[in-house]
Amino acid sequence: MPENKKRMAENARGDGAEATAAALRGIPVSPGVVIGPVFLFGDILGEVEARRIQPSEVEAEIARLDDAVKLVKKELTSDIERISSELGDSEAGIFLVHAMILEDAKFLDTMRSGIRTDLLNAESVVAAEMKRMSSVLMASDDSYLRDRSYDITDIGKRMIERMLGVWAHCPLTHPMIVVANELRASDTVSMDRGRVLGFVTEHGGREAHAAILSRALGVPAVVGVPSITGLVRSGELLIVDGNTGEVFVNPSPEMLDRYSTKQEEEAVAWAALSPFVEKSTSMSDGVRVKLMANISSVEEARDAAAVNVDGIGLFRTEMLFMAAGLGVSENEQYEVYRSVAEIMGKKPVTIRTLDIGGDKFVGPENPLQEHNPHLGYRSIRVLLDNPELFIRQMRAILRAGLHGNVRILWPMISCVDELRAAKICLEDAKRTLTEGGVEYQEDVPIGAMIEIPSAVMVADRLAAESDFLSIGTNDLVQYTLAVDRGNVKVDHLYRPHDPAVLAMIQRTVESGLVADVPVSVCGEMAGTASYIPLLLGLGVRELSATPNRVLLARRSICETDSREARGLAERVISAATVAEAGEILGISSPRG
Ligand code: PEP
Ligand code: MG
Repeated sequence: MPENKKRMAENARGDGAEATAAALRGIPVSPGVVIGPVFLFGDILGEVEARRIQPSEVEAEIARLDDAVKLVKKELTSDIERISSELGDSEAGIFLVHAMILEDAKFLDTMRSGIRTDLLNAESVVAAEMKRMSSVLMASDDSYLRDRSYDITDIGKRMIERMLGVWAHCPLTHPMIVVANELRASDTVSMDRGRVLGFVTEHGGREAHAAILSRALGVPAVVGVPSITGLVRSGELLIVDGNTGEVFVNPSPEMLDRYSTKQEEEAVAWAALSPFVEKSTSMSDGVRVKLMANISSVEEARDAAAVNVDGIGLFRTEMLFMAAGLGVSENEQYEVYRSVAEIMGKKPVTIRTLDIGGDKFVGPENPLQEHNPHLGYRSIRVLLDNPELFIRQMRAILRAGLHGNVRILWPMISCVDELRAAKICLEDAKRTLTEGGVEYQEDVPIGAMIEIPSAVMVADRLAAESDFLSIGTNDLVQYTLAVDRGNVKVDHLYRPHDPAVLAMIQRTVESGLVADVPVSVCGEMAGTASYIPLLLGLGVRELSATPNRVLLARRSICETDSREARGLAERVISAATVAEAGEILGISSPRG
């Protein structure tokens, strides 16, 4: 029996002290303590059972189908309104497509007659029809139609969830803790983020999407909790301790008291950070450091501005495409980039072109069924292979440049050849704008992400041909150590302080210095207090972290002396073992 299940069973029998018996354990990936009801998120389409019905039940089943359609239509209307106001019209586009599917009378008639003629329950008829339509669309040569197959699957899931009375689509009606097997970026698009109290998942590692999102939202999260989805039900009470990785289901009044006190203590500690909103970001001996923010929406740009960042070091544009599909138009993108540029004024806004593949998909998980998606068709490879998509995005960025100070960042560059190929596409984007008489910012700086060891080894040459470099430690750790960033089984080996990783960072920083090109760090290390002195000691002078880690990062920078940091970095980088490096840093868990 898995350890967690055994503990729950013991607890149910009343064995052992309750406080310890009920604790489930996972990997803490976002700090803080939260107490709240569970929202169980699941994949329903594959789980539907076909059940024969009596002829007398036919009308009732059809009514269930019709009720579900009405309910989903109503939800879609409110999703469209909410997403349009929070993220812009373009991001609501996907829900408009869903609404159109539900308006199609032929589509609904096929399902009604399925119930009538095959005498099957409504949800199994919906599941079968959705799967059939989705595979027809998937087989098409037209990429637009292939993309629509994801919409069909999505809408089918929602209808079935409503018929069964479960809410896997995540319309959080009130603040809840989301519990899931695994959460992909696209799963979270439909969540009302203001109502997410925390996350607990069975799978996923330290830098998987749920972990990054939880830190961006500033909510506690624990990943890798075995069997959690089988152990809880929606509505049950949970305590999640994102500092220790402990999760308690239906806690006793004593546990509730103890953790409420912890929450109060944390609130006091957060309040102590408020003086750092106005403080300039300098080390204790006066060395100035640029502190920027990682964002993925206009809303997060506002959060970043509220804590006085020096700019946006990484605008992940994937969410925009996940919400609106790969077909999102140039104008729709332009409006979003322009809003962010305007919020930041003269400060730089670094917009990363689409970084799909790996663990960030637009549509179903691993649509190409790649065995090794992190090493496969992802990121700049997809963009160079789809110049229309790439140029459309860069045209939007170039146009937005007129409203602020934007920079273009190309992800997953592995060699100078790719950098040059991307530059040719950029020139094409500029040429087509000029030919069309469209105004744009001509001298937009360009930069390469350094997140692959091969890029580190030629960082001198990449720096010589770029305006800036940005180290993505999330992927750099994964590729340097051959440790999947989203796989809980190897999470203990995902150690950013491995001297091999530090040597990669140091080499990149030195290449930047020689070429006189700024180098920033935008991976999660940059927002982790225990790693900040180390990065500063390695010579990094630009950091970019999620907005709600900015004050912690600023405090950590202000408390660091540059000479001491250099000494620390020298000791850690020359450690013989990873354990020794961890000991010098006083790190017991990689999150620090
Ligand atoms: C990184 O890899 O460190 C990074 C910032 O990019 P992402 O996490 O989006 O892959
Ligand atoms: Mg990356």
